Amino acid sequence: AKRSAAGGFLFFEPAMHERALQALSLQSDLRDAVRQGDFTICYQPIFDTHTRAVTGVEALIRWTHVERGPVPPDVFIPIAERMGLIGTIDRWVRESAIAQLLVWQQQFPALKIRLNVNVSALNLRDQSFLTNLEAIAQTSGFDLSDLQIEITEGLLLADSPATERLLVAMRKRGVKIALDDFGTGFSSLSYIDRYPIDTIKIDRTFVTRMLLQTRTMSILRNVISLAKDLDLDVVAEGVENEAQYEALAAMGCSHVQGYLFCKPLPAPALAAVLACPVMP
Ligand code: C2E
Ligand code: CA
Ligand code: CA
Ligand code: CA
Repeated sequence: AKRSAAGGFLFFEPAMHERALQALSLQSDLRDAVRQGDFTICYQPIFDTHTRAVTGVEALIRWTHVERGPVPPDVFIPIAERMGLIGTIDRWVRESAIAQLLVWQQQFPALKIRLNVNVSALNLRDQSFLTNLEAIAQTSGFDLSDLQIEITEGLLLADSPATERLLVAMRKRGVKIALDDFGTGFSSLSYIDRYPIDTIKIDRTFVTRMLLQTRTMSILRNVISLAKDLDLDVVAEGVENEAQYEALAAMGCSHVQGYLFCKPLPAPALAAVLACPVMP
C-alpha cells in the first residue's frame, strides 16, 4: 500500500475543514442570537446546609438554537468571550435576573434571598461594570446588597490592579463576591488572598469524587476549614445524592447546591419553589 505524506494530509483535511466550518457557523449563529435576544435564564436555588432554607438563586443562561437544539453555556460562553460578545451577554443576564428578583420580592414579601450571577473575568477590567449596576439600582430600586457576582475563570483573571479596585469598590456598595469553580484554576489561593471575596464555590468535580477518594475528602475538609477561618461562606456545587450532602454537612460546609435539591428551573417553575423556600 502506498502512503504519502500528501495522502495523509488529504485524508485529514476534509474533517478539519468541516470542523472549521462548523465553528464559523456557530460563531455567526451566536452573533445572531445576541442580536435577536434568543437567550433565556434558568434559576437554581442555593440552600443553607443547617437551616435548609433557600438563601439564594443562581442565574444560568440558556440558548436553544432552532436547528441545533440546546447549546450548553460551557460551549458558547468561551466562544462569546473570544468574540467579544460576553459583555453584552452577561449584562443582559444581569439586568433580566435583577428584574426577575424584584418581581419575586414583590410576590413573596417575606423572602430573603440573594441573586447570584456569573460574570466573566473579562468584564471586570474597568469600573463600567459598577457604573452599570449603580444605574440599575437607581432606576429600579434594586438593593445592590441582594446581589452576588460569581467570578468565573474562563479566561484567567489577570493580575490586574484595575480588577482589584473594582472589586473593592463593588464590595463597598454591598455587592457580594464569590469565586466560582474553586480549586480548578491555577491560582485559587492567591485570589482569596488578594481579592475581597465573600464566598467560595467548590467545584462539582470535588463533590463527585469525595466519596470515592479519601484524598478528595481531605482536600474538601481543609478547604471548608480554611473558609471558616477566613470567615467566608462555602457553597458545594453539584450535590447529587444524600451521602454527599451528609458528608458535606458533617464537614461544616455552609451551603449546598445541586440536582439532589433542585435543578435549574425557568422562572415560573422556580416561583413554586420560592413559595415554600426550604430543602425538599
Ligand atoms: P457554573 O457557574 O459552575 O454552574 C454550575 C453548572 O452545574 C450549571 O451548568 C448547572 O446547571 C450545573 N449543575 C448544577 N447542579 C448540578 C448537579 O447536581 N449535577 C450536575 N451534573 N450539574 C449540576 P450550566 O448551566 O450548563 O452552566 C455551565 C457553566 O456556564 C457555568 O458553570 C458557568 O461557568 C457558565 N455560565 C452559565 N451562565 C452564565 C452566564 O450568564 N454568564 C457567564 N459568564 N457564564 C455562565
Ligand atoms: Ca456559577
Ligand atoms: Ca461553579
Ligand atoms: Ca463552571
